[in-house]
Amino acid sequence: MFIEPSPNTRRPAERKGQIEVICGSMFSGKTEELIRRLHRARIAKLKVEIFKPSIDKRYHESDVVSHNENSIRSTPVQFAGDILLLAGNCEVVGIDEAQFFDFELLRVVQLLANQGKRVILAGLDMDFEGKPFEPMPQLMAIAEYVTKVHAICMKCGDLAAFSLRLSASKDKVVLGEKESYEARCRKCFLEDKK
Ligand SMILES: [Zn+2]
Repeated sequence: MFIEPSPNTRRPAERKGQIEVICGSMFSGKTEELIRRLHRARIAKLKVEIFKPSIDKRYHESDVVSHNENSIRSTPVQFAGDILLLAGNCEVVGIDEAQFFDFELLRVVQLLANQGKRVILAGLDMDFEGKPFEPMPQLMAIAEYVTKVHAICMKCGDLAAFSLRLSASKDKVVLGEKESYEARCRKCFLEDKK
């Protein structure tokens, strides 16, 4: 279990800022873990803002919605740079579906953390071919804390780190994940990959 920094360090001079990455495959509970951390920051009366790329319109336009339907209000943004303008005086910045932003996100999250903000990102670490999904590897490198969460292989029940695409599409981005993907362990992923 990830232990967050003490919320008691409320005075700006005491806040150092940090970057946390929550990564994993589809169905691994990344967004649930992001929401858990953000809820706890809110209980500590910290100012929290949540952003997601506007590409992700699967669910409600302005909510980060996880699959267990715990939802939290968020702001869809087109470019990573928009987060800098909108994060304003908040103390904790959550970013969901971070893999859909470009490399500009690296500069943005470093600037935010350097201002003393706690930045928590959730994203897919591998695409449907099992290749690193940029810019997640770079975000993991610059983060103070990286948490990899696992799904359960829908074929054998072991821990799963891979997202198997059931359709034949070769696009990197296919949304609507419940119908299009299943979680797989390494062995089952290799057996089932098209
Ligand atoms: Zn398996």
